[in-house]
Amino acid sequence: MTTVSAAGVTGWVRAFAAAVAANKDYLTELDSAIGDADHGINMNRGMQAVTGKLDAAGPPAEDIGAQLKTVGMTLVSTVGGASGPLYGTLFLQMGSSAAGKTQLTPEDWAGALAAGLAGVRSRGKAEPGDKTMIDALTPGVDALTTALADGASFADALARSADAAHAGMEATIPLVARKGRASYLGERSANHQDPGATSSWLLLRAAADTFTTEDGQ
Ligand code: ADP
Ligand code: MG
Repeated sequence: MTTVSAAGVTGWVRAFAAAVAANKDYLTELDSAIGDADHGINMNRGMQAVTGKLDAAGPPAEDIGAQLKTVGMTLVSTVGGASGPLYGTLFLQMGSSAAGKTQLTPEDWAGALAAGLAGVRSRGKAEPGDKTMIDALTPGVDALTTALADGASFADALARSADAAHAGMEATIPLVARKGRASYLGERSANHQDPGATSSWLLLRAAADTFTTEDGQ
């Protein structure tokens, strides 16, 4: 496939919701080591609200930007933890980037994700290496952009992006947290994988799983 349709974006959001539901206990267990044991609960509550909204809305909005903004607003309004506003911002900024578009080229998709990441960074003020979700998102977005610039197929670029996010997630293990609740632990936050980086890997893996089929749905 060469473009992402509005239905494809819905498929990605649903695939992420399914991955969060399947990994709810795992995400919460990671958060119990360096946080307050609610990351899986928070993300699942938010993504269940999102899928409920998609189910009620019937056929997906043709405007991809509008669809992504609805996802973002739902997360902001249903998730209490740090991850609600941060993931909400990611989807809202992706929505601004895709405003008015009914199809996204691979470059549009990468640009939307980059806008989402920039939104998370400006909202959370985390730098790479602070042991947060951006430690998975940044290498994931960079790998996607680089692969597309190198002429890789979209499927290949998405697979490389998910792999880079996975490596970024694993690289959070030795880090000492400098942002969020885990930073209260200081040195004791080391030797644990960051929960938000883990859910962010699931987000990019969902894109690789969804957009590699012929019609992206
Ligand atoms: P809370 O910390 O409020 O309980 P969650 O447990 O749902 O919220 O989410 C925790 C995750 O949020 C962390 O693992 C981290 O990845 C991410 N996070 C926290 N603060 C920031 C920040 N300032 N910037 C980016 N990500 C952050
Ligand atoms: Mg928490």
